[in-house]
Amino acid sequence: MNTWHIHIEGRVQGVGFRPYVYRLALERDLTGVVYNALDGVHVKFSGSEDQAEEFYAAIIDKTPSLARITNHKITRETGERYKGFQILQDQSDVSASLMLPPDFAVCENCKNEVLLGKNRRSGYPFITCTQCGPRFSLITELPYERAFTTMEAYQMCHSCKQEYGDPRDRRYHSQTNSCTACGVRVALWNNKGQKIETNSQLAIEKIARLWEEGKIIAIKGVGGYLLTCDATNAKAIRTLRQRKHRPSKPFACMYPNINDVQRDCHIDSAEQQMLTGEVAPILLLPIKKKSVDVALSDIAPGLNQIGVMLPYTPLYLLLMQAFGKPVIATSGNLSNTSIVFEDKKIFMELSDIWDFALTNDREIVTPQDDSVVRFSPFKKQPILIRRSRGIAPNYFWPDTPTEQKTILALGASQKSAFGLLYGGLLYLSQYLGDLTFLDSTENLKRTIQYFINMLNCRPEIILVDKHPNYYSTEYGKYLADVYGGKLVSIQHHFAHFAGVLAEHSLIQKSERVLGIIWDGTGYGNDGNSWGGEFLVYENRKIKRLVHIAYVPLILGDKMATEPRLSALSHSGQNPAILPLLKDKFSTQEWKIYQRLLDNGSPLKTSSMGRLFDAVACLLGIMDTQTYEGEAALQLETMAQTYFDYHEGAAYSGYDTQISYLEGISTMPIIEGVVRDLNNGTSKNEIAFKFHYSLVRMVEEIALTNAMEKIAFSGGVFQNGLLVDLMIIHLEDTFQLYFHQQVSPNDEGIALGKLAYYQNIEE
Ligand SMILES: [Zn+2]
Ligand SMILES: [Zn+2]
Repeated sequence: MNTWHIHIEGRVQGVGFRPYVYRLALERDLTGVVYNALDGVHVKFSGSEDQAEEFYAAIIDKTPSLARITNHKITRETGERYKGFQILQDQSDVSASLMLPPDFAVCENCKNEVLLGKNRRSGYPFITCTQCGPRFSLITELPYERAFTTMEAYQMCHSCKQEYGDPRDRRYHSQTNSCTACGVRVALWNNKGQKIETNSQLAIEKIARLWEEGKIIAIKGVGGYLLTCDATNAKAIRTLRQRKHRPSKPFACMYPNINDVQRDCHIDSAEQQMLTGEVAPILLLPIKKKSVDVALSDIAPGLNQIGVMLPYTPLYLLLMQAFGKPVIATSGNLSNTSIVFEDKKIFMELSDIWDFALTNDREIVTPQDDSVVRFSPFKKQPILIRRSRGIAPNYFWPDTPTEQKTILALGASQKSAFGLLYGGLLYLSQYLGDLTFLDSTENLKRTIQYFINMLNCRPEIILVDKHPNYYSTEYGKYLADVYGGKLVSIQHHFAHFAGVLAEHSLIQKSERVLGIIWDGTGYGNDGNSWGGEFLVYENRKIKRLVHIAYVPLILGDKMATEPRLSALSHSGQNPAILPLLKDKFSTQEWKIYQRLLDNGSPLKTSSMGRLFDAVACLLGIMDTQTYEGEAALQLETMAQTYFDYHEGAAYSGYDTQISYLEGISTMPIIEGVVRDLNNGTSKNEIAFKFHYSLVRMVEEIALTNAMEKIAFSGGVFQNGLLVDLMIIHLEDTFQLYFHQQVSPNDEGIALGKLAYYQNIEE
């Protein structure tokens, strides 16, 4: 008889791992102990070599579905005798587990309990177990224990306590355990501030009737309030758009069940798994042409896909079952600001939007929006658009960083998020909103402070963007002052590149990688606005190889909201193109902009986002846009429509002129687009040819420079068609790398900054 020691690392705490090991040990009559420590779960037991091998394999084989094992090993130890098998309770000196589990979607067992049968939780909208329910959103301190969550306010009843204490029960040590008798309570309010219902079942039935009547209901969920209305009622949706000041940005829909999603949308098995799994994000899905049930043109104007989610909390499950139709479910906020999570604010600030509000008395500590994911249409490459509820905040870094210093990495501006490296663990915050809005800056400050307090750490190094005017840069400077930390600024696109390299363990290697880093804007090393960047990594160094040729930057940030300015800038005052643009401006505007171009703009841009805008404008998609990326999204939709009908055809694109000194001239593309327009080529085909030209551009540069590996980052790679075309045309010749656990947009840049700082030599 020997003593054995199994050590398991990863997301193994707060997910029912110890009871799982306990049950396996009992089945095998083994004696020993299982316990949590800072570095994961440890199992020590007595047994023969065969028994040890079998037990070890069993543990690794069928782990609880929420567990994510990053490392495991077994070693033989000197003999120790055990009596029975025990779960050792956390000892305070080693218990400070630093893992912050995310909020998990309701599990199948709990779904069945709440919907079916007679048990003390049927119809209880806040049912949870060790395999599901909120975590991060209600944790006030670490370690993750009930006393340090907002569930502390609820005294478990006798039955709940019994489950909590029984290792054989699936609610053993379930920190959020509660039931109808002892748990969370709801209240339904009308817009006059009167409480009209407190019985949860009656409130749910009432809401289903109110949706039917076209009313807008604010509902407190896991990470904050959602605004909801009937997704088949165009009038209700228009009212919501008007009240929310959101004229055309797509809304997400919550469907009652997966069958209804399949009826309306194209969905494959990987997508289905994502939608029904523990993250349960908003998933962007192409809509079936014949489907008419949802008011598509009001939900996602100009697009052929919608954001779909399934009820991920028991409350939504009950509501959707009562209603039986999809509802619009959008973050409770005014456009682009942070999601509202405080009850007070929903009454004070958003009462102009909703007709009724369903509150509950469980406090939210950390607000989060719903995560957003899409898969590229053909190659099914997953693309994370927003990393938030269900995923944030822990990040499992493929190469555990050796750095023991505490490093805080601020993000960029519009899609804000930060990273904190502490004690060898990396936290990547949830999406925090657009920092050009005051309340998003408050959200950023509050969330950073929350992490610093909870981990009781002091940032020693603070990484910021090179952009001098980003709020995140200013705040980073302030924090460096307060904590006496070292401030380091890192170029935006270099950080993007470092991020995708780190995700694939390429950043400590010597091999050369071509980085295709395309987005809307980022402050360049020469003071210009970069964004169409071809970078090269080699042996811990990154350099700029070539870029989209500079064009005048017109009116700074305003250029991003007006595709007509991008078209004008890319026209190069070419007399063949100007007549197409003149009508898009007033006489006065035209004069001003012409003079501006004649005099030469002091600042220039190499942005790929602006090139998409320019082409979209020339095709007549729009002159000004109401949300970021609107024109590019519609351009992608048109190209996609062409591709759907011409898959596998011999494609052509527009020529490009690559100069390693002057940059890549876009004039041949713009001229080609105009020529095709004049020839009567369909706009869908032109949109496609533009996309395809970009693939050819990448191919040519990779071949000329003898690159074998190509990595992609930047917001442009949220474009699923572009990702597909890159894969389809380049995968046979090159090794391609896309982001995995973070978004290609600026949300992913905090990870990139950390990777850059730790690995890249300047
Ligand atoms: Zn559950
Ligand atoms: Zn109870």
